[in-house]
Amino acid sequence: MPDICFWNRCNNHCLMCTNPDDFWKEKDYNYDYLSQRLLLLRGKIKDITVTGGEPTIHPDFLRIIELLKRELPNIEITLLSNGRRFFYPLFAKKCLELNNMNIAIALHGYDAQTHDRITLVKGSFAQTVTGIKNLLKYKRKSQNLEIRIVITKLTSPYVHKILYFIRGNFPTVDRVVLMFMEIEGRADKDIKTIGTTYKEWNSYLPRIKSMIKDFREIRLYHFPLCTVEPSLWKYVWRTLSKDEILFPPQCKICWYRKYCLGVHKRYLKRIGDSEFSPPQRLIIKNSNDPHHPIVDVIN
Ligand code: SF4
Repeated sequence: MPDICFWNRCNNHCLMCTNPDDFWKEKDYNYDYLSQRLLLLRGKIKDITVTGGEPTIHPDFLRIIELLKRELPNIEITLLSNGRRFFYPLFAKKCLELNNMNIAIALHGYDAQTHDRITLVKGSFAQTVTGIKNLLKYKRKSQNLEIRIVITKLTSPYVHKILYFIRGNFPTVDRVVLMFMEIEGRADKDIKTIGTTYKEWNSYLPRIKSMIKDFREIRLYHFPLCTVEPSLWKYVWRTLSKDEILFPPQCKICWYRKYCLGVHKRYLKRIGDSEFSPPQRLIIKNSNDPHHPIVDVIN
C-alpha cells in the first residue's frame, strides 16, 4: 500500500515519533504539489495510506479530500491521525463524506495524564477521545475506525488499562491494533526513555490476553513470530516493508521464515538479535494473504 505524506507538521510531539529531525524542516507540501502527486497515481493503485506529520491540520486537507472523492473515487484510503481535529463534529462529518475513508487513530493512554505525557501536549487526550466519539457517531458501516496503541517502555505497563478504556468507551470500534514501536527518528534518539524489547513487553502480555476476545478485531503489528506465543499468531500481521527488515542468521533454519515479518533493522542494530530463535514446529492454517499469512495454529 503506497504512503502519501500530506505534510510535515504536527500538533503533537510524541516521544516515540519515527520521523527524523530533518523531516520537520520547512518544505512546501502545498495543494498543487499534493494534487499532482495524487493524480499521477490515478488508475495505478487500489489503496493508499495518508500520513504526515498530522494530515488533518494541513490547511487544504478538506480540499484534498474533495479531490480524492472526485478523481480517485474507488481507492481504499487509510488515514493515520492523532484524532484531535475530529474533536470538531463538522470536520469529522466532512471527512467521512468519502465512502472509502478508513481512519486509524493513535491512543497513548487511558486518561489525560498517561496520554499527554507521551504527546507532550496538554489537552490532547480530551480532544482525541472526543474525536474518536465523533467518528464513531458519524461513520458509515463501510468505513473502518481503528485505534492504535504503540507499545513502548512507557505504555507497556498500562496497555491493559488502555484496552479497558477502549472496551468501556468505544465498544463498537472496528479494530484495535497493538503496534510494537519502531526505533527510528525521535524514538531512536529517546531510546533510553521510550525504548523497550519484545522480552519486556511479553512480561505484560498476561494482563491483556483475556481481553482480546472482547474486541471486534485485534491485530499485532511489527512482531516477528518467535516473539509472540503461538496461540496469538493468528493476530499477527506483516506490516513492514522489505527494506526495513532483516532476518538474523538463526532464521535460516526457521520453518516459519516464509510467514514471518523478520526484525526491524534498527532493532537489530540498537538491541541485538538474542531474542529471536526458531519456534518449535506446529500445525498451522495459512492463508494466501501475504500480510496475514497465519490464520490459526492447530496445536
Ligand atoms: S527465528 Fe527468525 S524467521 Fe523464525 S520466527 Fe523468529 S524472527 Fe521469524
